[in-house]
Amino acid sequence: MPYPLIDIGANLTHDSFDEDREAVMQRAKAAGVTRMIVTGASDKGNIAAAALAELHPGSLCSTAGVHPHHASDYEASSDDLIRSLVEKDAVVAVGECGLDYFRNFSPRDAQLKAFQSQLDIAADTGLPVFLHQRDAHDDFVELLEPMLPKISRAVAHCFTGEHESLREYLSMGLWIGVTGWICDERRGAHLHDIVSIIPDDKLLIETDAPYLMPRTIQPKPKSRRNEPAYLTEVLRVVAEARDQSEEHVARITTENAINFFDLK
Ligand SMILES: [Zn+2]
Repeated sequence: MPYPLIDIGANLTHDSFDEDREAVMQRAKAAGVTRMIVTGASDKGNIAAAALAELHPGSLCSTAGVHPHHASDYEASSDDLIRSLVEKDAVVAVGECGLDYFRNFSPRDAQLKAFQSQLDIAADTGLPVFLHQRDAHDDFVELLEPMLPKISRAVAHCFTGEHESLREYLSMGLWIGVTGWICDERRGAHLHDIVSIIPDDKLLIETDAPYLMPRTIQPKPKSRRNEPAYLTEVLRVVAEARDQSEEHVARITTENAINFFDLK
């Protein structure tokens, strides 16, 4: 009997799932991934994620936010849309939002503005916030920190940083989302050494599917598309790196996801 797991970041509205979305969800269930939080990252994506979640109460919830890549498109109407979507029971967090200076698909000033607006929504609604940060640590902390007293809970999703930024996030009270990045022997080896400093009550796991296929899966899946069923591999590698049993990590991360998103 697999342990019940919750994938806190699955981009299930991605078009790579259009042909077989139901089968993907069935495989997740069979692997023990009983619930998934569908990431919303754009106006269109937010509507689709909420609609998908409403079709699958009990197994799917969604977030509503605008990813820094799309920050240039952040209009007053985006703000209104997020505020109306988060009224729904199925929509459980604001985000993903944050800063991404690695690609700079949107100019930095647009990113900062969109990020601030979404933190304001989290503060106004009391909902937790799902955060993205890449190569923008200083600006990210500067903008986020003064807002935190007004925000219920915040998770640094897909944490890939170094020891120093992890310590800083933890001292700020952030929860930490770990993806299959930790299974990547080229880019994620450092995460092995530091994942154990995350306290039991701040650790969350996610696939970020269809991205970030865990590279340690044996035998290697034929498709390069990641899916929520592979959360079990993230669990396995995180448990090994923390020197804890898979059962323990499954129990704490599922409990944490329920608490973080206030799942019913
Ligand atoms: Zn992200």
